Amino acid sequence: MKKPIYRRAYKGETWHWCTNCSEWPENDYTIRHYLPQRDKPCPACQKLDDAGKCERA
Ligand SMILES: [Zn+2]
Repeated sequence: MKKPIYRRAYKGETWHWCTNCSEWPENDYTIRHYLPQRDKPCPACQKLDDAGKCERA
């Protein structure tokens, strides 16, 4: 199974996991393979995921 990838822009406050999210960071980001507990998931990614439209990295 492929590890999930989460990206957070250096200046951002939320973690993204859908490459089709409008705020998916292309440059200057940090990567994690898990969602850091005290951080926030991106609401837009969550919405795509809930709709089954999330294109995972
Ligand atoms: Zn997002």
